[in-house]
Amino acid sequence: MSASLPTDIKKSPEPISPEQLELENKEILKRYRHLLRVAHSRLKPGDTKIIKAAFNLAVDAHRDVRRKSGEPYIYHPIEVARIVAEEMGMGTTSIISALLHDVVEDSNYELDVIEAKFGKKVARIVDGLTKVPRVFGEDKSMQAETFRKVLLSMSEDIRVVLVKIADRLHNMRTLDSMAKDKQLKIKAETQFLYAPLAHRLGFYNIKSELDDLCLKFSNRAAYEQILEKIQATQIARDRFIKDFKKPIADDLTANGIKFTIKSRLKSVASIWNKMQKQQIPFEEVYDLFAIRIIADPKPSEDEKALCWKVYSTVTDHYQPNTNRLRDWISYPKSNGYESLQITVMSKKGQWVEVQIRTTRMDDLAEKGFAAHYKYKGNHDKLESNLEKWLSLMRDNVENNTLSDLEFMDEVRDSIFNDEIYVFTPRGDLRILPLAATVLDFAFEIHSEIGSCCLGAKVNNKLVPLNYELQTGDQVEILKSSKPKITEDWLRFVKTSKARSKIKLFLRNEHKNITDNGREILYRKLAQLKLQPSDTLVFQVTDFFESTTPTELYYKIGMGIIDHTEIKRFYETYEKSRPVYTRPKDFKQELKKKNSNDGIVIGDSAEFEYSLSSCCNPIPGDDIFGIVTVSRGIRVHRTQCPNAVSIMASYGERIIKAVWDVDSSRKFDVGLHIVGTDRVGLVNDVTRVISNQLKINISSLSITTKGNVFDGKISLGVQNTSQVNDIIQQIKNIKGVIDIHRFEP
Ligand code: MN
Repeated sequence: MSASLPTDIKKSPEPISPEQLELENKEILKRYRHLLRVAHSRLKPGDTKIIKAAFNLAVDAHRDVRRKSGEPYIYHPIEVARIVAEEMGMGTTSIISALLHDVVEDSNYELDVIEAKFGKKVARIVDGLTKVPRVFGEDKSMQAETFRKVLLSMSEDIRVVLVKIADRLHNMRTLDSMAKDKQLKIKAETQFLYAPLAHRLGFYNIKSELDDLCLKFSNRAAYEQILEKIQATQIARDRFIKDFKKPIADDLTANGIKFTIKSRLKSVASIWNKMQKQQIPFEEVYDLFAIRIIADPKPSEDEKALCWKVYSTVTDHYQPNTNRLRDWISYPKSNGYESLQITVMSKKGQWVEVQIRTTRMDDLAEKGFAAHYKYKGNHDKLESNLEKWLSLMRDNVENNTLSDLEFMDEVRDSIFNDEIYVFTPRGDLRILPLAATVLDFAFEIHSEIGSCCLGAKVNNKLVPLNYELQTGDQVEILKSSKPKITEDWLRFVKTSKARSKIKLFLRNEHKNITDNGREILYRKLAQLKLQPSDTLVFQVTDFFESTTPTELYYKIGMGIIDHTEIKRFYETYEKSRPVYTRPKDFKQELKKKNSNDGIVIGDSAEFEYSLSSCCNPIPGDDIFGIVTVSRGIRVHRTQCPNAVSIMASYGERIIKAVWDVDSSRKFDVGLHIVGTDRVGLVNDVTRVISNQLKINISSLSITTKGNVFDGKISLGVQNTSQVNDIIQQIKNIKGVIDIHRFEP
C-alpha cells in the first residue's frame, strides 16, 4: 500500500552501476561490523548469530530500496541499531528490533515471520514500531493514533520507544535530503513528542541533539549564528574554566577524593531559548556552560555524604547562591536523575552552575534507561518511579474519555512537567507535576480519597481543594463521607490521573441523571396517553430547545425542566399536531388543488396548505412551508417561536413558500394594547380602527387592573403593511403605552 511508504523512500531509483553496487555492499558490511564492535561488551555468547540473522533479513527486506538521499535503505536500520547500542547502551533485543524496525512496514515480510525467527518479544517491539494504517475515519488524527500505539506498546516494553527515539534521531540527522514540508512535519513531531520523551527517559545528550536539530530545521540562521559564536568564544571559555577548576581540584586531591571535572556546554537550542525568553544577545547568556564534578566513591562509601563533601569544597572557594541549590540526591527525579546542583560566584564575578554527582549518578544521567538496567536492584526508588510514570502513561493511553487533541496534550504534559515532592502524613514521598493541587494529591493517593476530598491540612494549616502544593509540603486530606465531585474540579487539577477520574465520575453521574430523566419523561408521556416514539421524543426535545434527547433527559433529570412543564408541551402539541416522518418522496404525498388561494408552495401555486395557528401568518410575513404527513403543508412565519427548532430538526422537510394573494382576502391578526386606563380610551381606539381605517373588528376584550388598560383586538386585515399602519395610528392615541401583534 503506497500510503504506508515512509516518506524518505525513493520509489524508482536510477540504475546503479555494478562497480557502485560493489562499493555499497562493502560499505554495508563495514557498517555492520562497526555495529558489532560497539555492541560487543554487552553481547552474550550466541547473540552475534541472532544479530546476523536480523541483519540478513533486513538486508533482504530493503533490497533495491533507497532513501531520498540516494543511499541504500539498509544504512538506516544499521545506523538506528548502532545508535541504540552505542549512544543508548542497549543490548541484543533492542539491536535486533532496531535492525528490523522498518521491515514489516516497508516490505512483504509479515510479523509472524519475525516472531518465528526472533521470538515474541522482538515481534511485539517491531509491531509497536509499525505505523498504524490509514483506516480511521476522517475525524481521527492518524498521528494521535500512532503515538497512542507507540506509547501503549512502550508501557508494555520500554524498548519500543527507545528504538523509536533512535529511529527519529537518525531521521533528524539526515533530514537535509527531505522536502521542506516533510522536514517541518518531522521536526514538529520531534519537538512535540520525541525530544520530551528522550528527556523523560533520561537521555539528555539525545534530547539536546534533537532540540538542536529542531532549531536547525526551523531557524537555520539562528542555529548557525550561535554555533559560530560558540566557536569564537571557545578559547576564552577554556581559560576561564581552567582557572575556575584549579582550586577545587587541588583541594579534592588533597582530601583523597577521586574525581573528574568536566565542563558541559548548553545546547544551541537552550541558548537560543534563553536569548528569546530574556530578550538578550548571545554575549549576555551567562550560563553557557556548567561545571560537572563526578566523584568516584570508594567501595561501600556513602554516595550522598561524598557529594556533600564535594559541595563543601566548592563553596570553600566560591560563594553559593543559596536560592539555586537543588538537591536531587535526597529526592531523585522520577526519571532517576540524581545530582546536587548549585550556582556559585566565580572570582571574575560570573555565576557558574556546578553539578555534583557520583560515577553511578552520572551514568544514569547520561545513559538514562540503559544505565537503569545496569544498576537495577541497587536502586529501587528509580525503578518504582519510572514504573509509576509508565503506568500513568498507560492510564492515559487506555483512557478513552479523551479526544485525540486532549490525549496529545495530556501525554505531553505528563512528559514535560517539572516535578514537586510532597509527603503523606506518614512521611511517604509522592511525586507530582509542578503546580499540582491538593486535589491531585488526593487522587494520587486513591480515587476514593480524591472523590471525597473537601480540602486538606498542608503543614498543619487548612487549605482549599485548589491549593497549589510546593516541594516539601506534608499533606493530610480532609474527606467527606460521600463523593462531592463537581465540574469545577476539572479546573483544579493538573494530573491526568485526577482529571480522568473526575471525568469518569461526572460521566457516570450524568448517565444516572439522564436515565432518571428519561424515565420521568416516559412516565409523563404515558400519563398523557402519548406513545414515546423517537419522533415524539424529538419533538419534545425541540420544544424545550434542547439539541439532543440526552440533553433533554438530563435537563428533566436535573429538574431544569419541571416535569409538570411537559404538560405545556402536550397542549401545544395537541393544538398543532404535525406528524413528521422521514422525507421519502414527500412531494407525492401532497394534495393538489385547483386554484391559487394565496401562497405559492415550492414552484407551484397548486399545492394545498394550511396556515399554522401557532404564529398566524399574514401576507407580508416571511414564511416557509413544512411538509407534515397527515396534515399536508403547514405554513409558519420564519419568526415563529417554533420555527427555529422545526427547521433545525426537520430541515429536509422544509419547502419554500411565497405569498401571492389577491387583495380582497382578509386574514385575522391580533393586537395587544396596553395603556393607562383613562375614560374614552376604548372609544378612541375603536374609532381609529373602524371609522378612520375602515377595518372590521372581529373581537375585542378589555381588562383593567388598577389604572392599567389591557386590550386584545382581533382584526381582519390584508397584509403586514396595513397592520403596521394600524399600530402606528394607535400608538399616537393619548394613553397608549404599547401595542404589538400577538397570536390570537
Ligand atoms: Mn525508520
